Amino acid sequence: MEILIYIYVFVLGASLGSFYNVVGLRITKGESIIKPGSYCPKCNHQLSWLEMLPLFSYLFLRAKCRNCKAVISIKYFIFELLTALLFCFSYYHFGFSWELIIALLFVSLLIIISVSDLEYLVIEDKIILFFLVIFLLLRIFIPLPPQFSTFNDHYYLESLIGGLFGFGLLYIIAIIGKKVYKQEVMGGGDIKLYGIIGLILGLKMTALSLLFASILGTVFGVLLISLKVIKKTNPIPFGPFIALGSLLAYFYGYEIITWYFSLFLY
Ligand SMILES: [Zn+2]
Repeated sequence: MEILIYIYVFVLGASLGSFYNVVGLRITKGESIIKPGSYCPKCNHQLSWLEMLPLFSYLFLRAKCRNCKAVISIKYFIFELLTALLFCFSYYHFGFSWELIIALLFVSLLIIISVSDLEYLVIEDKIILFFLVIFLLLRIFIPLPPQFSTFNDHYYLESLIGGLFGFGLLYIIAIIGKKVYKQEVMGGGDIKLYGIIGLILGLKMTALSLLFASILGTVFGVLLISLKVIKKTNPIPFGPFIALGSLLAYFYGYEIITWYFSLFLY
């Protein structure tokens, strides 16, 4: 039976991932996410349902538009697969618990902002606001898991403090960065996004997620520059690294902290 649940969660993830591609790309362009239906961005050919099946259509069409043969970006496929896998992993990690709802929505938010940040280097306010309201309400009914907590039992307070900390710290980094480098080092979207992440993760894990995001961002940045994939002056979207760092802290932060401190106890 368990395998059927995984299949269901995978299909759900792939289908929603397909929708999140549309949300991430269209909201930022100011288009409706419902109308018109999906179309080829090159020739405006309307896609039939057969061309819109998550994962399958991409393989079946061999990454080309059926009408004009324009190449379909592999990003669509990757984000569909990623959403499906992260949905399955969330279920594996939390099982049928209330926290699973938070996990699935958190994955959804991070996929959408990664799509739009990679494409336009922007994280749209509308997306942030939508999820902010949802998570503010949900964290009242589904309090922070105890292992995330810094202040014993004060789960609601911790969520709020986490949110303020995430927002505040990135705001300060952005101001200092602007003074030092004379240009934007942190987008407004990243700052607001960290407010939401703080609500979900609480103080301790938010700090940890930021550490992970900075390390990952720096390593990838240096790697891409030394491999000459990008130039030093190219702006790098920080959103995907925030997403990676936050998921790592969310799923394994507690274990990583426990392991790290155990190194110094013996
Ligand atoms: Zn086309």
